[in-house]
Amino acid sequence: RCRTWPGRTTLAAVWSRRIPSWDIDEVVENSKKAGLLALVAVAEHSGEFEKIIELSKRFPGFVFPCLGVHPVQQISPEQQRGASVQDLDAALPVIEKYKDHLVAIGEVGLDFTPRYVNDESDKESQRQVLIRQAQIAKELDLPLNVHSRSAGRPTIHLLKKQGVQKALLHAFDGKPSVAMEGVKAGYFFSIPPSIIRSDQQKLVKQLPLENICLETDSPALGPEKQVRNEPKNICISAEYISKIKGVSLEEVMEVTTQNALRLFPKIKSAIRP
Ligand SMILES: [Zn+2]
Repeated sequence: RCRTWPGRTTLAAVWSRRIPSWDIDEVVENSKKAGLLALVAVAEHSGEFEKIIELSKRFPGFVFPCLGVHPVQQISPEQQRGASVQDLDAALPVIEKYKDHLVAIGEVGLDFTPRYVNDESDKESQRQVLIRQAQIAKELDLPLNVHSRSAGRPTIHLLKKQGVQKALLHAFDGKPSVAMEGVKAGYFFSIPPSIIRSDQQKLVKQLPLENICLETDSPALGPEKQVRNEPKNICISAEYISKIKGVSLEEVMEVTTQNALRLFPKIKSAIRP
């Protein structure tokens, strides 16, 4: 799908939980062939923490773990609800256990999509879960991997109020003007391949390249709806940014890689140059 991808370095985020284990080797192999330097495997709830750690141990120096409690928790395949402090209680001991291995805390954030929040108290419990994890990230000196949906402004404002300095806002759906408040705070924004079918062109235009990272959010947010996304598709994001910003693909790859290594210093010291 990607025209030109000279196979240099860049970073992708991948969620391990919905990639079936039977073809994970192939997914990782294809990512390497596509020139990716490292993958960040991101958790959503404590039930998958061990699996993420296991994955990072299976691919040392290539897959890096990130643990956190997502603002939306799944109770069953059909049923989801906002995160609560109880979800944190299950997660914190495992985060503590693996703290030295983690490259970030996440996925954390706020999701005010109407079906997940009935009232103000639901929003408040999501805020409490985020605030606590922002404190933990600070204590561990780790960046936050942040999800926000229908909550761009409250998310950025909360992060700033909590004094968060290192954050990656993934698949940001808020206004570009709100994103620019995040840029002022030094936050990064990662662009998934689904950007080619979204209306966030203005966001990419306004964000300085120095604040952009690439992500795939695999297996979600691929170039085609309902088709499983993979880390190798990260080139689609890079090509889109290159086109919208009128800069070369090489520059997009180089700058976003440097951004990612600045954001995740532990990856920088763990990978081979
Ligand atoms: Zn997300």
